[in-house]
Amino acid sequence: MTPSQTKVNSRLSKRVQSIQPSGIRRFFDLASKMENIISLGVGEPDFVTPWNVREASISSLERGFTAYTANAGLIELRREIAVYMERRFSVSYDPENEILVTIGASEAIDIGMRAILDEGDEVIVVEPSFVSYAPLVQMAGGVAVPVGTSSENDFKASAALIEAAITPKTKAIMLCFPNNPTGSTMNAAEMKEIAEIAERYDLIVFSDEIYAELSYDEDHVSFASLPNMRERTILISGFSKAFAMTGWRLGYVLAPPDLLAAMLKIHQYSLMCAPTMAQYGALEAMQSGMDDVEKMKQSYKQRRNFIVKSFAEIGLSCHTPGGAFYAFPSIASTGLTSEQFAEKLLLEERVAVVPGHVFGAGGEGHIRCSYATSMDNLEVAVERIGNLLQKL
Ligand code: PMP
Repeated sequence: MTPSQTKVNSRLSKRVQSIQPSGIRRFFDLASKMENIISLGVGEPDFVTPWNVREASISSLERGFTAYTANAGLIELRREIAVYMERRFSVSYDPENEILVTIGASEAIDIGMRAILDEGDEVIVVEPSFVSYAPLVQMAGGVAVPVGTSSENDFKASAALIEAAITPKTKAIMLCFPNNPTGSTMNAAEMKEIAEIAERYDLIVFSDEIYAELSYDEDHVSFASLPNMRERTILISGFSKAFAMTGWRLGYVLAPPDLLAAMLKIHQYSLMCAPTMAQYGALEAMQSGMDDVEKMKQSYKQRRNFIVKSFAEIGLSCHTPGGAFYAFPSIASTGLTSEQFAEKLLLEERVAVVPGHVFGAGGEGHIRCSYATSMDNLEVAVERIGNLLQKL
């Protein structure tokens, strides 16, 4: 074995080496080598970005707008984000010093963690959750403390469990609703219980609301709109999901001036600004994209209803996801782990899903099925999952 192949590579930081690559990738790599696969694996819209948004971006290039923008993003775009967030979610932010345009919500989470964490500080991560949270906490020198949710409680975050996980080192709570991977949502009353804890223990709350527009049964309530929460909330959103713009890499973060200034400092030195042509497209999306968002939402809702009903018909227990585009059924009755089930499903029935354990505490015994794919694909996928269940 050469030195570069040994387990600990002295050229790399211990911090980075302690982080595992995302568990989602293994399945994608396997699936990419197989034929006739139906994928319920990827977490992104199956729509192409609406034409007017693409056209606005193309037009910005034609007009020669190819230079950097302000570090925080085009002021016109920040103003539109402020108007949009006020209109849709009743939260009010100053575009001059409380809004930052980022390279996806991913960057917002990263710089948010780096802005607030010192070595050893703890962040409570409500899980199952998006796979990036815990690694980004760790890469910022912090410690991610998982707090699980379960299907018995519709995967709602429990204020009591969050409180029980608080230590003198706890700095923040990481929330996401509608949730990836469970599709679970939270109403104002449920959030208030968490808000009280955040206030009592003086914690910052990361609220990842990137799926807010894709809330099917109840209107989305933003965490920052709760009494006294705005001053301690880092509100994260973006264009990837609602506007079908994953490849544009554009998100935004809203926070009180001190937190935002710290994030801007990191963003300014490591990234300078978000891509200019993408920002012009996003401006158009904010100004006139709502009809398309609504159409896409209705389409996801129809598919959500179909998949939940179909899973019940084949005997797969699944709570009804209130938002996002994921179903998270239980496969516990098969006696297999979620990894074993997902592997069998892929190899024997050619359906790719993501095993629930990769999303952390409470995920084992479940599989994540993204229903952002055609109805035809969903019909075949459900039939194939049914075939596997029959065999087991
Ligand atoms: N948060 C959640 C909950 C997500 O599911 C994703 C994407 N899968 C992101 C953030 C990152 O989104 P972006 O494309 O804006 O970086």
